[in-house]
Amino acid sequence: MATQLEAAELLFLRAAWMEDNHRVYEKESAMAKMYASDVAMKAAIEGVQIFGGYGFCKEYPAERHIRDAMIGQIYEGTNEIQRVVIARQLLSLR
Ligand SMILES: Cc1cc2nc3c(=O)[nH]c(=O)nc-3n(C[C@H](O)[C@H](O)[C@H](O)COP(=O)(O)OP(=O)(O)OC[C@H]3O[C@@H](n4cnc5c(N)ncnc54)[C@H](O)[C@@H]3O)c2cc1C
Repeated sequence: MATQLEAAELLFLRAAWMEDNHRVYEKESAMAKMYASDVAMKAAIEGVQIFGGYGFCKEYPAERHIRDAMIGQIYEGTNEIQRVVIARQLLSLR
């Protein structure tokens, strides 16, 4: 989980660097948004698994992290659409 979260951070830093340096960063920002929110979702699910019953019940924040992570996969362009954006760039279909 920690490795994937750091990889997500690096994808974000790359996209931010490209914007700061006036590069085209459509693919890179799509990859960063998609990967970071997918990793957050995986980590949230693992968190519930690790905490067992405490992960499931509402007294603890683990179950809320799943909802908070899942909305990241949906808003600001769903991850399905980010994949379309990435594929178009890779195939040079704009
Ligand atoms: C709480 C919330 C906050 C939001 N905030 C923002 C925001 O701040 N900014 C913003 O831009 N948008 C925001 N959105 C919209 C979000 O980014 C999605 O665009 C929107 O929810 C999808 O449109 P729809 O609900 O009409 O579903 P549909 O467009 O019908 O999509 C339904 C499902 O089909 C998938 N899908 C659709 N077309 C394709 C395709 N061509 N290929 C593969 N899969 C496809 C979608 O990914 C989705 O999973 C928000 C959505 C929610 C729920």
